[in-house]
Amino acid sequence: MLIGIIGAGIAGLTAGRILSKAGHEVIVFEKSRGFGGRMATRYFGDEHQIKMDHGVTSFTADDPDCQSFISEMKDKNLLKEWGKTVSYYNGEAFYKEHPAREYQPYYIAPKGMNSIGKYLSRWVDFYQGETVGGITYIGRNPQKKRSWMVNLATINVFEVDALIVATPATQAYGIIQTAQDETPVRQAIREIDTIRYSHSWALMAGYEGEYNPDWRGVTFSNSALQWMSNESSKRENGGDSTLVMQSTHAFANKHQHSDSEVVAREMMKAAAPVTGDWVYSPKWQDLHYWRFTKAQNPLNKPYMEFDNDAAPFALIGDYFQGSDVQSSYLSGKKLADEWVKRYKP
Ligand SMILES: Cc1cc2nc3c(=O)[nH]c(=O)nc-3n(C[C@H](O)[C@H](O)[C@H](O)COP(=O)(O)OP(=O)(O)OC[C@H]3O[C@@H](n4cnc5c(N)ncnc54)[C@H](O)[C@@H]3O)c2cc1C
Repeated sequence: MLIGIIGAGIAGLTAGRILSKAGHEVIVFEKSRGFGGRMATRYFGDEHQIKMDHGVTSFTADDPDCQSFISEMKDKNLLKEWGKTVSYYNGEAFYKEHPAREYQPYYIAPKGMNSIGKYLSRWVDFYQGETVGGITYIGRNPQKKRSWMVNLATINVFEVDALIVATPATQAYGIIQTAQDETPVRQAIREIDTIRYSHSWALMAGYEGEYNPDWRGVTFSNSALQWMSNESSKRENGGDSTLVMQSTHAFANKHQHSDSEVVAREMMKAAAPVTGDWVYSPKWQDLHYWRFTKAQNPLNKPYMEFDNDAAPFALIGDYFQGSDVQSSYLSGKKLADEWVKRYKP
């Protein structure tokens, strides 16, 4: 079967790899120029020697299937354990170890979070910088060989036998909406229209190497920040001391259209009680606004699909049974395992 997957995050690429290994032909369409979606890395420095994970900076996982994927990635030196606890700042006091969190491994990607997506994309035909503008259902047309048409924002069109939409729910909604009225897929619209995402600002900043914090990551409460990651504790990063600060949803909403200097200054102000005043004087800095940080009200099922053997169609992603790397991975894996059982290559 020729399977089209829209979105090269961990969900889409996990499903793509499993289906490709089972003998299916898989094409992944990704609108950005990067791999891994929100498992994202941005490069800085003259030779791009500094890597900053400005989406997910580290993650935890307790599911056995996800654990075995992590073991595979550890064997390839693509993931490693960062520690079993993080620090905490409650608006008044700093705790080197979070007083209320259970010890559990935090995983980081020494070569950058996007190295995971890069690795998984080896199993699929990968079209980068290709936004899918819409899809057309052609399953019942006996003149046509394939069941789905994928319409790219450029004039290009691809025909595939089966389709998986592996984007955040809001973007999946936009894509599905373009399908013909009679398509059963449109039933999905009402359900995914209810999903809401938190937003956040990510501030990436580099400092002289002498300012080297002795913590890996800090969670915050009563602050404009929800998290700060010491990227230099993951990798050398050109000798600079490097931080990624992530704002709360409330701060991101309030400052969505604020001047970037104001946003950066406010985020540094929130970080300063933990770091000291040196945080105000970066050598370089950059900001990114995340419209889709985490699904706030995920659906209680691993994926959504339409029982239509003539034109298989499914939705996967982190808005199924969670809102994190693990839930995305499991959503992609569970759907792909089911399709491997059901559909012959
Ligand atoms: C700032 C931040 C912090 C986070 N912190 C954590 C954390 O601590 N722990 C944790 O487990 N998780 C965290 N997450 C969440 C985690 O990153 C996501 O849940 C997970 O990576 C989502 O994977 P996905 O494959 O479902 O979607 P995505 O990674 O969003 O992938 C979807 C892909 O689809 C592409 N796409 C969208 N529309 C189209 C289109 N029309 N055509 C083509 N391509 C399209 C997008 O460009 C994207 O690459 C964080 C996320 C952010 C942003």
